[in-house]
Parts: sequence; structure tokens; C-alpha cells
Amino acid sequence: MSKKWRLTERTKTLLTLELAIVLPAAALMGFSVWNLKHIQRDKAIEAAIQRDFGHVLKIAESKSWREANDLLTPVRKEFPSPDDGAQIKPKLESLLRQHPEYAYAVLYDKKNNLMVSRVQPGRDQDQAFCAYTQGEINNLVSWLPVEASSEVKHLRMMKEEHPVGFYGGWMVRANQHAYFNVAYFIPADVRDDRVALGVVAFDEDYLRKSFFPAIVSDVLSSKNTVLRADANLPVMMIHAPKDSTPWVASADWDGGEPEEERRFADVFPNLIFAMKYQGTTIADIGNRFLRYNYIVLGALSVLMVGGIWLTYRNVSREMNLARLKSDFVANVSHELRTPLALIRLYAETLELGRLTAKEKYQEYFRIIREESERLTALINNILDFSRIEAGRKEYEFKETNLADLVRSTLDSYRFQIEQNGFAFEENISGDIPPVTVDREAIARSLLNLVNNALKYSKDQKYIGVSLYQANSRVNLEVRDRGIGIPPNEQEKIFEKFYRCGDPLVHNIKGSGLGLSLVRHIARAHGGEVLVESSPEKGSKFTIALPLDPGLRTAAA
Ligand code: ADP
Repeated sequence: MSKKWRLTERTKTLLTLELAIVLPAAALMGFSVWNLKHIQRDKAIEAAIQRDFGHVLKIAESKSWREANDLLTPVRKEFPSPDDGAQIKPKLESLLRQHPEYAYAVLYDKKNNLMVSRVQPGRDQDQAFCAYTQGEINNLVSWLPVEASSEVKHLRMMKEEHPVGFYGGWMVRANQHAYFNVAYFIPADVRDDRVALGVVAFDEDYLRKSFFPAIVSDVLSSKNTVLRADANLPVMMIHAPKDSTPWVASADWDGGEPEEERRFADVFPNLIFAMKYQGTTIADIGNRFLRYNYIVLGALSVLMVGGIWLTYRNVSREMNLARLKSDFVANVSHELRTPLALIRLYAETLELGRLTAKEKYQEYFRIIREESERLTALINNILDFSRIEAGRKEYEFKETNLADLVRSTLDSYRFQIEQNGFAFEENISGDIPPVTVDREAIARSLLNLVNNALKYSKDQKYIGVSLYQANSRVNLEVRDRGIGIPPNEQEKIFEKFYRCGDPLVHNIKGSGLGLSLVRHIARAHGGEVLVESSPEKGSKFTIALPLDPGLRTAAA
């Protein structure tokens, strides 16, 4: 019945442990793994980085737009009017001199069928430059009269926000992609019904070597750039469509495939801005993130499992202790009841005064004395134990002749041992030096060991006690040929309340305190209690005490 109750209690505790800790922990781990897998499938990290890249590229485009407009504003103001006649050319020339960032300028007026152009005078000596720039002008001159009306109309409509139109693209020059572009606007003071256009073209060298490198480095170093917080270094370049060779690149561009691109539309049309991380790819970063998270998750899981295991171990230990305690109460009550019953029985018999034989009287008195001694020993054990538990146990160390102490302790017990049919052997060496011990504690330890030898012997009734010196120790040895102790229980028997699982042991009275007290006493003396035992053959308990009192003080 009680066994069944214990089982349910244990199952209940384990179930609580499982429901309260194991299940939530397992759910948490499962959810994290699922979450990470989910992130992996959605490529959420990659998408987020790509979004950031897209944002930065947008900033690059609007910055280019603003800078280009800033450059064009003074030019538009100073641009000659179609009515300037012979002054147009010199004015264009001086304008270009002041603004070396332009390759050429053109003024077209439909009314007077006027088309005046000038190549950058600062580059007049550069024949190659003059040749291809002239080629570009010729090209422009061929389509400008055709397109002018609609472009002017368009500019007038957009006047407020887009006072300038842009046109640009790529061509192959000296086996390389070169970017050409023009900005066109209506010169100042041109009446609304007149079709006239001012055109300037940015010098390709200027765009490639100074304008765009500045924009790129500006955008990349900007504090507002979301990517700044990232440990990876973003790099940027500009290229032509269908040709990934960089036309302009940031200083740390390290080649490879860009992660995100943006084709400019309004300003500098057909330029493609591209971005990536230096030395790594977004996919790698994503994988790294996942790997890192898996490792953290793994480590946490190991910790959690460790924690659960520790909790489980502690709970089981506490439950075992609780069971041992309740056994202890039952055992002690039983142990108290038996001697009391005997004492009462024999005292009553004596009281009746019907005994005739004198020996009977003697025997009954002896039984009463022995039983009351047993009670005293048990109560002493319990008191000692409670003092130790409360940390109040104190020892009175005195220099002692151990041989005398052992002899006199055994003398008061010898009769009882022999009465029980035991062969008793006592070997006390004659050369034991005085040892500093607590007399009562040592005597009690010896009695506990002898009493155990008595209790746990069956047919082979033998008890041997030896006291001898070995190295710097004095050994007090108690041997029996009793039931012995299985190897796996030899350490546990010194724990409080512990009693061996052997059903034989449970028929023998005991509290499970004796050996834990012996060990406490031995250790308080700087010594140890050791056991050698094999089941069915017998046991040998040895209290080894140091001769050097220094050891004792250190241990106590
Ligand atoms: P108890 O009051 O049960 O004897 P102890 O602490 O003295 O408590 O002993 C703990 C357990 O160790 C005993 O219950 C018994 O199982 C085992 N034991 C102790 N001494 C011996 C021995 N001499 N022979 C066999 N088993 C022993």
C-alpha cells in the first residue's frame, strides 16, 4: 500500500517536472528551430539587406540629381540669349572657360534658324577630345531642330519642378564604353511662344573622375546610410547596361557580382549604380547569421537539458531523503518500542515476586540493564545526530590512552557478545602512543561498529576488534563474518538514514544513523572510516585516526 503511494507521488513529481520544464523547453527549442528554418526559407535577412541597398541607391540617384542641378543653375543664368547675335559665340566661350566641367555648349533658336556651338576652349589643344566632341555636336545638331519644339513644350509644362531636361547614353570610344549626356533648358528671357534651347554636355572625364566618385564616397560614408551599422563594408560602382565592367567604382570595390542595382532614369539616364558588400555576399551573411543562431540555440539547449537533468537529480535526491526520513521515523519508533516492551515485561515479572531461582532474577536484571543500555545508545545516537545537523556538536579532545579506552568499552559489551554466541577476538597492540581524542565519541563509534557486527551476522558468529599503529595513524578495526555489503552500497551506508536494500536488513532494527555518526566523528578527529566488505563473507570497518593532532584541528 505504502509502496503504491510512493510510486504515485514520484510519478506525480516527475509529471510536474515534465509539464513545467521539459515541455515548455522542448516547445521553445522546437519553435526556435522552426523559426530559423522559416527565416532560411523566406530569405528574410537577404531581402532586408537588399531593401537597405535599394534605399542607398535611391539616395545616390537623388543626390546626383541635386548636384547636377546645382552645377547647372549658374550656367542657365549666364547662358547667352538667342538675341545676342554676334555675342553668342564669345559668350558661350567665356561661359565654358568659367565652367571647365562641360565639354561643349550649343544654342538653338528656331525663329532665326540659329545653331551656335562651342567646344570647351580649355581643351582646344586636345585633338582627340575636339574630334569626338565635334562628332557629338554634329549628332546633336542633326536631331535638335526636329525635337526642339516638343522638348520646349515639355520644359514649359514642367517649368516649376523640372527646368532642365537630361538626355544620355553609352557609346564605344577607343574600345571602351564612354558615357555621353546633355542637359537642355530654355535660356533666360526667352518669350513663351519662342522655341529656343540652351544645351550643355558634362565632360565625361569630369563625371568619371570627380563628379561620380564624390557622390559614391559621399553616399557610402553618410551617417544616414542604414548600412553603416553593419560590420560589413558596403561598396559601390557604376557601369553600362550589359557590361559589368565598372565605369566608376568606390575605392574599395573588390570585383564580383553586385547584389543590388539601380538604373538612373531622370538624371544621367542609363547609368547603372550597383552595390554589394566587400569580400562577402548577402547569401553568406544570411548563412552566417543562421549558423550563429543555430550554435547559440544548440548551446542554450545543452544548458537547458543540463538544467533539467540537475533539477531532476535534485528532486529525486530530495524525494529519496524524504522517503529515508519517513523510514527513519518508523524504524526508530520500532527500535524504541521493543526494548521498552521487554523492560516492562521483565519488570512486571519481577514485581510479581514469583521467581524462585536466584539466577532468574540475575538474568532478568541483566536483560533490563542491556535493553536500557540499548535505549540509551539509540537516544545518544539521535541526540548526536540532531546536534550535528544543527551544527552544534562539540568535541572534547583530551590526550587519551586509546588501548585502555577500547579495552574498557569492549569489557562492558563482551558479555552480551558472548551471550549471543559470538566468538570474540581482541587484539590491542601494546605500543600505542597517547592520542588526543574525544573519549565518549570514540567509545560510541566503536559501540556502533560492534553493534552492527552483531546485528548483521547470521550463521558465522564472529567479531574481531584490533587496535594497532600503522604509519602515522592508529587504526581501530572491527571485523565480522556476517552478511556483508554489496560494492555499490559501500559508499552510501555512510549517508544519513541510509539502510541497505537487502530484505534481510529490513528485518533487523536500525535507524540508519550509526555509520553517518561514525564518519562524522572520524572526520572531526582528522581521520576517516573505511569499509572493506563482500556479501556473504563479512565486513571490516576501520576507523583511522591521525597521531598528529595538527591534522585534527585542521579538519575540525
Ligand atoms: P543501522 O541503524 O541501520 O544499523 P548504520 O548507519 O549503522 O544504520 O548502518 C547503515 C547500513 O549499513 C545498515 O542498515 C546495514 O545495511 C549496513 N551495515 C552496517 N554495518 C554492517 C555490517 N557490519 N555488515 C553488514 N551490513 C552493515
